[in-house]
Amino acid sequence: MTRVFCIGRNYAEHASELGNVVPDSPVVFMKPASALVEAGSSVPFPTHGQDLQHEVEIVVRIASAGRDIPQSGAMNHLDAVTVGIDLTLRDVQSGLKARGLPWEPAKAFENSAPIGDFVPLGTGLDCRAMEFACSVDGEIRQQGDTADMIFPIPVLVAHLSSIWTLQPGDLIFTGTPAGVGSLRPGDLLMASAQGVGEFQWRITD
Ligand code: ZN
Repeated sequence: MTRVFCIGRNYAEHASELGNVVPDSPVVFMKPASALVEAGSSVPFPTHGQDLQHEVEIVVRIASAGRDIPQSGAMNHLDAVTVGIDLTLRDVQSGLKARGLPWEPAKAFENSAPIGDFVPLGTGLDCRAMEFACSVDGEIRQQGDTADMIFPIPVLVAHLSSIWTLQPGDLIFTGTPAGVGSLRPGDLLMASAQGVGEFQWRITD
């Protein structure tokens, strides 16, 4: 079983660029595992919205099951890290938010979770202080560092495991820094993370 947990508003500058207040506990939503798109693939532009936006995020993978995991033991439950894109139909999301409705049509559609290849943790790679970025057609759009998270990765693991029993293979998209922006068919989207590598996807009609 792979579940894809996603965290919203986890970097202060991004929360404010969308006019959201900084939350006092993590904002959680989910995507289906079928939304994952491996690197090197194409991503068809969705047909149910207009404003497709990139949100580059560090993604961590759960290695061992746990419920009510303490922050102090959280890193022991992770085995790998990569970088991914939380693709978002911003116009659809804005309409849903205005009506107080769930976000799935804006966040959890087919191909909404491009994801790089996982790299094992514990080889000098620390996902708690990791620079990452995304670019479109070679132009840098977003740059972040996981050290700037409002709720750091151990807090996210503790919080999620207080609600769900985390299972091996579960993924956590940990939130996006400022600079989210729009994509068009034909764009080459690239995501990279320090010590992890760089990965790309083509947006197609
Ligand atoms: Zn996101």
